[in-house]
Amino acid sequence: MSNKKETKSEVSLEDIVSLCKRRGFVYQGSDIYGGVAGLYDFGPYGVELLNNIKQSWWRASVHRKEDYVGIDSAMFKHPKVWDASGHTSGFSDPLAECKNCNTRIRVDKELEAVGQAADEKMSEDELNKLFDENRSKIGCPKCGKKEFGTVRAFNLLVKSNLGDFAGEGADPVYLPGEACQGIYLNFKNIVDSTRMKVPFGVAQIGKAFRNEISPRNFLFRTRELEQADTQYFVPPNQNKDAYDRIKQERWQWYVDDLGIAEEKLRWSQHENLVFYCKEAWDIEYEYPSLGFDEVEGFHDRTDYDLKQHKEFSGTDTTYTDPRTNEKYIPWVLETSMGMGRIFMAVVSDAYTVEQLENGDTRTVLKLKPELAPVRYAIFPLLKNKPELVEKARAVYAKLSEQFVCEYDDNGNIGKRYRRQDEIGTPECIVIDFDTLEDDTVTVRNRDTTEQVRTQIADLV
Ligand code: ATP
Repeated sequence: MSNKKETKSEVSLEDIVSLCKRRGFVYQGSDIYGGVAGLYDFGPYGVELLNNIKQSWWRASVHRKEDYVGIDSAMFKHPKVWDASGHTSGFSDPLAECKNCNTRIRVDKELEAVGQAADEKMSEDELNKLFDENRSKIGCPKCGKKEFGTVRAFNLLVKSNLGDFAGEGADPVYLPGEACQGIYLNFKNIVDSTRMKVPFGVAQIGKAFRNEISPRNFLFRTRELEQADTQYFVPPNQNKDAYDRIKQERWQWYVDDLGIAEEKLRWSQHENLVFYCKEAWDIEYEYPSLGFDEVEGFHDRTDYDLKQHKEFSGTDTTYTDPRTNEKYIPWVLETSMGMGRIFMAVVSDAYTVEQLENGDTRTVLKLKPELAPVRYAIFPLLKNKPELVEKARAVYAKLSEQFVCEYDDNGNIGKRYRRQDEIGTPECIVIDFDTLEDDTVTVRNRDTTEQVRTQIADLV
């Protein structure tokens, strides 16, 4: 409508965090105990939005594809899995501790912030040297002092004590550092029990745990996270075309399925690759206050994973092509997206503040209707008129068989609209006295605020 001016560009990360808490999307983990850094709980609307994003991803990554299947593997795994994957020896970030207040900093990120790229391949000595040269520019985020101890590698795996492996001197059992290992472990099972033939892909959404040195920026860097991964198995050296196609398909999912503004997305290529990786790219989103940063990684992992598990487990993971009898260890093309990061991108992208003509502002989450936590809100015009309430409840009962609906009779209609705008409900349905006469309702659109009269029978 012409009486509104959008002021979206001024959105900050704080606005997003505040809306998420105020409207029941995301709460700080263990809030009533003062909160725990890097842990968050999804609230009633948050879990609906999160599930809708997951469903959209699953549809695009599994159901719409002939050559993909999904799995859901156990989080705990045999301790040797993390030796094979390289996590027990190499899954670390460089850490330094403030000598004054013991606050830990992640040295590579602090160096990056002062314009010094720390290469993942650098030895501890090299990192210490680079850190020493830049000490004068790096202050403790808590006390501001510039006195840190030496830089050391800090392993990010989180330990636990699972039954069978809990004895004295036993290897520690780790929580998953990444979700994708379950897919590699089941490659042989899937080949043996289904009709999948290489090339094919496996998708999974799973939890991962990382002892992040400095969790920060809301859901962007947490210690418990969820990853939506696909691993596409291809014959050796037949990686390039599939890799480029998968990258393009994933980009289109952000734009077409989630409705994210394309100018807020960009590709970023990794310059420093781990030794087994042939190529790596990220999709980045331009987050409020943070700027462009990684949402999803694309890794061309060669045959590293299946070879490692073959060696460490003693089980042959070689694939035999039933059409040609050719034997080989497949190469793997990985996509890995953080659910918290995509959730934050979706909310940030939908967050809109409109200046109304009367001087008021209206906050609206302009989510795609398929993603909105509530699809229809149903209001009786007045809550003290039993005929209206009964009719509104009947409409609620009918629509809630197919959609997530919310019944609200609290406050005046204008306030009810505002509440629904903030959680992104695409349409509000008002039951009034005319409804009792002719079975029509008012349907109010979230984005245009226009209201139209519709027959109840035509609602679905
Ligand atoms: P970063 O460099 O930001 O630490 P990464 O390159 O280690 O991330 P991957 O190991 O490739 O990330 O994980 C795949 C995806 O998982 C990332 O693209 C990101 O969306 C998500 N992710 C990784 N670590 C975290 C975290 N601590 N909190 C939230 N999401 C995360």
